[in-house]
Amino acid sequence: MPGPFHVGVLMPVTVLIGAQWGDEGKGKIIDALAPDLQMVVRYQGGPNAGHTVIVGGKRTVLHQVPTGILHPGIACLISPGVLLDPWELLDELAMLQASGVELERLKVSPACHLIMPWHRLLDRAREAALDRQAGPGAAIGTTGRGMGPCAMDKAGRRGVRLGDLLDPARRAACEAGLAAANAELESLGAEPLARAELHVALERATAGLAPYLGDTRPLLHGVLQRGGRVLMEGAQGMMLDLEWGTYPYVTSTHPSAGGACTGGGVPLREVDQVIGICKAYCTRVGNGPFPTEFEPGAFADGFRTAAGEFGATTGRPRRCGWFDAVAMRYACQLNGFTDLVLTKLDVLDGQPEVKAAVAYELDGRRLDGMPEDLRLLERGPCPVWRTFPGWQGSADARRWDELPQAVLDYLAWLEEDLGTRISWVSNGPERSQLLRRDA
Ligand code: GDP
Repeated sequence: MPGPFHVGVLMPVTVLIGAQWGDEGKGKIIDALAPDLQMVVRYQGGPNAGHTVIVGGKRTVLHQVPTGILHPGIACLISPGVLLDPWELLDELAMLQASGVELERLKVSPACHLIMPWHRLLDRAREAALDRQAGPGAAIGTTGRGMGPCAMDKAGRRGVRLGDLLDPARRAACEAGLAAANAELESLGAEPLARAELHVALERATAGLAPYLGDTRPLLHGVLQRGGRVLMEGAQGMMLDLEWGTYPYVTSTHPSAGGACTGGGVPLREVDQVIGICKAYCTRVGNGPFPTEFEPGAFADGFRTAAGEFGATTGRPRRCGWFDAVAMRYACQLNGFTDLVLTKLDVLDGQPEVKAAVAYELDGRRLDGMPEDLRLLERGPCPVWRTFPGWQGSADARRWDELPQAVLDYLAWLEEDLGTRISWVSNGPERSQLLRRDA
């Protein structure tokens, strides 16, 4: 049976990304699209990502392994743009193996930078120091998984890569990293990392990951040459992009579509589908501006609980708010989405009205588009709302044309406003709850 991608055109590379602040439900969509794919590639992010897939009531959370692994026969790559935590990866592989997933299809690039045990310690110590020095709320609100410190070492040309573990001379260079990290940890009042502990951990990572190590580029290009379809799996969301997100409250890699080319090694001209995943509302984890956030209180708490908006990786409560069409137009422009998928539509069932921000007001001026200096958003722009009638029962629709008329009107408005086609809506967490526009 043809999968949801069957539109009659051969599209060698699809890039699929989160179009908001992450947690848009990418995992579910990738999983649903998998029957048409030969390969899924993770090209950025790291263990701070968490993709949840629910099949037949069974919930699997993937952090670093591409979601395609849940489908037999799909080759999966972790490419150089990923900041890899080898120990977390080993745990994830053990979890998958225990559920009977066959893992020979996975290859991990030797060029992936490693999140070393000291990166995690530094991440937490630096966040704590920011809070101590500049007051509560000054920290970035990272997941504490060591991404930032690892990215700093990568850009500082002193990072440790997976391939380094196999070469005794290059592995010895870890000593310098450990010494520098311990000096900083001590200066921040944190416990240093014991050398012996590090070496035991490195032995475990080297032995455990050796079977998965392999050059990813030839595998990717081999599939492309054979006319296979590859999906580049984004993590986090566009608004957390290091370049274009709400800096400094951003992640350390490039979740925007361009990241698939730099981090994944796919040529630009091979990409002819860019899918943006967005919720029917917005959420954000961690600190940083979020213009459409609900006022704290009973409505916000009730919404979060009903929507299940708690982090898949950290369990942290997510901040929730209405749809932000200003941010979404920005995402559409920067990523050139060919298709949008609107997820979690069912969460809005029963709301008396549904709102979307169409512009912001800042310092007495109306902003119809995002400023390039996104720090201006920290001054708390007031959203200019457009209000729509609410709806009931979107979760019961099994086909697009069964969606309530109020939903269809809302979707038509969104498409017009965003200038981008909404090709699927997701109206529940199950694999089957995905409605295709033309089905
Ligand atoms: P990802 O990182 O973008 O894959 O998103 P997460 O896995 O962090 O969060 C998405 C959550 O929403 C998961 O628990 C999914 O099972 C769930 N989910 C995905 N699509 C829908 C939907 O349409 N409706 C509902 N109610 N839940 C959904």
